[in-house]
Amino acid sequence: MEAKLQELKARLGEIHDLNKAVALLGWDQQTYMPRGGAPARAEQLATLQKTAHNWFIADEIGALIETLDGSESEWDYDSDEASLVRVIARDYAKARKIPGELVAEFARVTTLAYEAWTKARRQSDFSIFQPHLEKIVELNVRLAETLGYEDRIYDPLLDQFEPEMKTSQVEAIFDDLKAELLPLVRTISKQTDAVDDSVLRRPYDGEKQWSFGLEVIKDFGFDLTRGRQDESVHPFTTSFSISDVRLTTRVDPNYLPTALFGTLHECGHGLYEQGINLGLERTFLDDGVSLGIHESQSRLWENLVGRSREFWSCYFSRLQTFFPHQLAEVDAESFYRAINRVEPSFIRVEADEVTYNLHIMLRFELENEMLEGKLRIADLPEAWNAKMETYLGIVPPDHAKGVLQDVHWSNGMLGYFPTYALGNLISVQLFDRIQADIPSLRDQIATGTFDELLSWLRENVHHHGRKYIPDELVRRVTGNSLTATNYIAYIRAKYSEIYEL
Ligand code: ZN
Repeated sequence: MEAKLQELKARLGEIHDLNKAVALLGWDQQTYMPRGGAPARAEQLATLQKTAHNWFIADEIGALIETLDGSESEWDYDSDEASLVRVIARDYAKARKIPGELVAEFARVTTLAYEAWTKARRQSDFSIFQPHLEKIVELNVRLAETLGYEDRIYDPLLDQFEPEMKTSQVEAIFDDLKAELLPLVRTISKQTDAVDDSVLRRPYDGEKQWSFGLEVIKDFGFDLTRGRQDESVHPFTTSFSISDVRLTTRVDPNYLPTALFGTLHECGHGLYEQGINLGLERTFLDDGVSLGIHESQSRLWENLVGRSREFWSCYFSRLQTFFPHQLAEVDAESFYRAINRVEPSFIRVEADEVTYNLHIMLRFELENEMLEGKLRIADLPEAWNAKMETYLGIVPPDHAKGVLQDVHWSNGMLGYFPTYALGNLISVQLFDRIQADIPSLRDQIATGTFDELLSWLRENVHHHGRKYIPDELVRRVTGNSLTATNYIAYIRAKYSEIYEL
């Protein structure tokens, strides 16, 4: 049995190498590649992805899984061995359904679509991106049909990012959230002036912003000997191994939160990747459980730590040493209020904690309509603007600030957006648990001490890699399934205080 397991691991290791080469080419495309490199890069990615896919769906791997599957009972459910067989069997069954041609087609179409999207966004012209998006929706419909579904066409697409989560569950959770958030946003919108955030909109030297962000993430525990940070149009985190984790961020010299919270956010993803058990390296288990769980890590550091009063009671004076003039007349409390100002705005990634999830619901609903053939792609910008008005009471002045703002669709990913909102909910569920386990947590944050928090996350979340499905992990750690209850209580408490509601 041991020999069979070693053979499986050896095969998976080689496929893993190809996948990491894909990740590296993708990272390069979004950071340093000159625009002229796009067509060749499309072919390179298509070839590598198709090869990795074909190696993975080989009959030999199926035979190894079958042999090992029967002997799973010899191993503990939580052991690396049983987990590997369990997870790979699920991946394999899914991947076998997808022809290599479809994988290559996705790679080709999306590489060109990404280039078209950057141009469309630059010129705020949806028509440049429209034909590409039409192809992408078509490919996703084909993918959903190939994978199969019982209830909703969205289910198999969502399942790629959030295993076992159903569209109807997401709708139920979103309904709970919406019932709380819509009236809250309306109430706060009437008194946005109660919080002044002009301090954030001053010239801030980009290099100093970069340096401050790096200082904070080093304090959080991000290991720069096993990772680095670069600039990209759309911030993201990727890894080429557990000991080579890449963060990207962007800097706005006239708006402090972009780089600051972008950096803390991506660092949360990076800490997750760096914290995976090294024994899982090169096994397919050396990854996050799901995008929702991944996002819970980024949101926890960005929001529950980085937007807390305790954090700024410690870090505001340090920020002042970087920007003595800009922050001369400001104190920690007014800075805390400024970074937590609630105001309906156009750009999702810069939305506050209260309005953020409404941006997600809008995308989730539009994706469902596009996939179900209820919404023509040509009508998407109009539908986008109509929903913005309904949920946030504002209409984007142009498509760059509207339907063209996100990179995801150009990357071929539909079914991805809900994971952001799920991550927000999970971040609070986890944080509530952590506070129960570490009663002095807030005091520790107020002194810039994060070791115990990081250790808790390492032990309970990071270490396991991809061993569990999201619901399994959330239940193991918090004792409950995913729910909006904790998030709603958190938002209500925090923002009633800030806005004196
Ligand atoms: Zn994220």
